[in-house]
Formats: sequence, C-alpha cells, structure tokens
Amino acid sequence: MVLKSKSAIITGSTSGIGLGIAHALAKEGVNVVINGFGQRDEIEDERLELEKTYQVKAIYSQADISKPQEIREMVKTAEKAFDVVDILVNNAGIQHVQPIDEFPDEKWDAIMAINLSSNFHAIKACVPGMKKRKWGRIINVSSVHGVIASPYKAAYVSAKHGVVGLTKVAALDLAPFGITANAICPGYVDTPLVRKQIPAQAKEYKISESEVIEKVLLKDQFIKEFVNVQDLGAMTVFLCSDAARMLTGQALCIDGGWTAH
Ligand code: NAD
Repeated sequence: MVLKSKSAIITGSTSGIGLGIAHALAKEGVNVVINGFGQRDEIEDERLELEKTYQVKAIYSQADISKPQEIREMVKTAEKAFDVVDILVNNAGIQHVQPIDEFPDEKWDAIMAINLSSNFHAIKACVPGMKKRKWGRIINVSSVHGVIASPYKAAYVSAKHGVVGLTKVAALDLAPFGITANAICPGYVDTPLVRKQIPAQAKEYKISESEVIEKVLLKDQFIKEFVNVQDLGAMTVFLCSDAARMLTGQALCIDGGWTAH
C-alpha cells in the first residue's frame, strides 16, 4: 500500500469533513494528527477508534489554528511523533453570513485567520520536512465558494478564493521538490453542522425537511444529493496517490454540477 506508514495532519478533524478525511487516510495506513475543538472525551474516543480500526497511530492536537504559533507547535509535535508530515490537509473553517455593509470586522478577521492564513502558516511549517523527503501532498479544503460567489458571504468567499490562489502558488513553488498542492472545492456536504440547520429552515420557510434539502440547500446542485464526507475522503486519497503525481495547482469542484452552469 503506497500510503502505508506515511503521516498526515488534518486540521479541523474533530467533526464533519475533516473527520471523514482522517478516516479515509487512516484506512490507507496513514498515521494521523487530528485537530479541532470539541468534548475531550469524545475526541479521545475518536482517536482511539482510528487507532483500533485501522492499526495506525493517531494523535490529537488542540491547536487553535487562528494562532500561527499554535500551528507551528502542532507541526513540531507531529514531526516528533512521526518524523515528517507527508500530507497536510488544511480543512478547518468557519462561516458567517451577513450583508457586506453590516459584516462585523471581527468576523472578517476570524474567517481570514482560520479559513485562509492558517493554510499559509501550516504549509510554511510543513514544507521543510517534505522537501527533505522529496515528497509531499498539500490538500486545501476550499469550497465552490473558492470559484464562485453567493450573497452575504464576503469573508468566506474571499478567504476560499484566497485558498485557491495560495494553492496555485504552492504548486508552482514546490513542483521541483516532489510536492503537489491542490484545492478541493465541495458543494453542500452532509455534515452534522448542515444537518442541524434543516429543522430550523423548515420552520422558517414553512416547508418540509425534505423540501429544505431539495429547494434550499441543493437548489444549485444538479445532482440533488449532498456531497458526503466519504466522497471527499476518496478524493483526498486519490490526490495522495502516485496516480495524481502530475495533478497540481488545481481547484477540483466536487459539487453535483453546481459550478458547471
Ligand atoms: P464542521 O463545523 O463540521 O467542522 C469544522 C472543524 O474545524 C471542526 O473540527 C472545528 O472544531 C474545527 N475548527 C474550527 N475553528 C477552529 C480553530 N480555530 N482551530 C482549530 N480547529 C477549528 O465543518 P465542515 O462542514 O466539516 O467543514 C470543514 C471545511 O469544509 C471548512 O473549511 C468548510 O469551509 C469546508 N466546506 C464545507 C462545506 C459544507 O457544506 N459542510 C462545503 C464546502 C466547504
């Protein structure tokens, strides 16, 4: 197995997409650093499950990735445990939705720090180790909002477009060193966060929960289904594989056709 015994940091992997990607990589034999917020006992259960199910090492970093110093410490911890970070998945992200003229400055700053700047700081910290091994995979979880806009999402859309730009530059800078960088751009993903919004939206729009999914959440996706975390895990594994060695600097939309029109 090509990826067996490699190691990965997946930011924001205590929930949703990041957790799905951690499972997909661990299934391939990759040792993982999981990161993010949440109940410590639940996180410990997840960590143990990853180790037990896939016979890999899993460690937890509580780094707040809005703080560059904590990112650097997380990378040091990973390198101490696993020697090198072969795969970096910049996934953690937050959202805030409000018209641009009312958009709070502190929300803009937080979204820029967590959704964009953290990607830069993590790449910068991981690259020296990757260069030594002449192999590395950087996968930045952007969004369809990294290539198109929706109203009221000034900070999120700006940050996710920034992630795509950063990915392209990383791909060019690191091409001579066996390191690829790509962005995954999902449409609506079936995460607990999204699922929790459905009953509230049904109440607000006075429609059923299944209508919320079809007419509100999946309005712009031509395949009227959520992307699921397994789809994103499989794409991540593919991007880490030898088959993807020439694939770099791309923004790969996995969005049920949303950005095709
Ligand atoms: P989620 O809320 O389920 O998970 C977010 C993760 O990030 C959690 O583990 C959380 O603890 C962590 N996190 C948040 N702030 C952090 C911080 N300061 N430091 C460390 N960890 C932090 O969300 P999700 O739906 O799984 O989204 C993950 C990524 O995918 C985000 O970048 C999001 O923008 C992107 N995305 C999501 C969707 C979707 O529909 N769910 C669509 C496109 C892109």
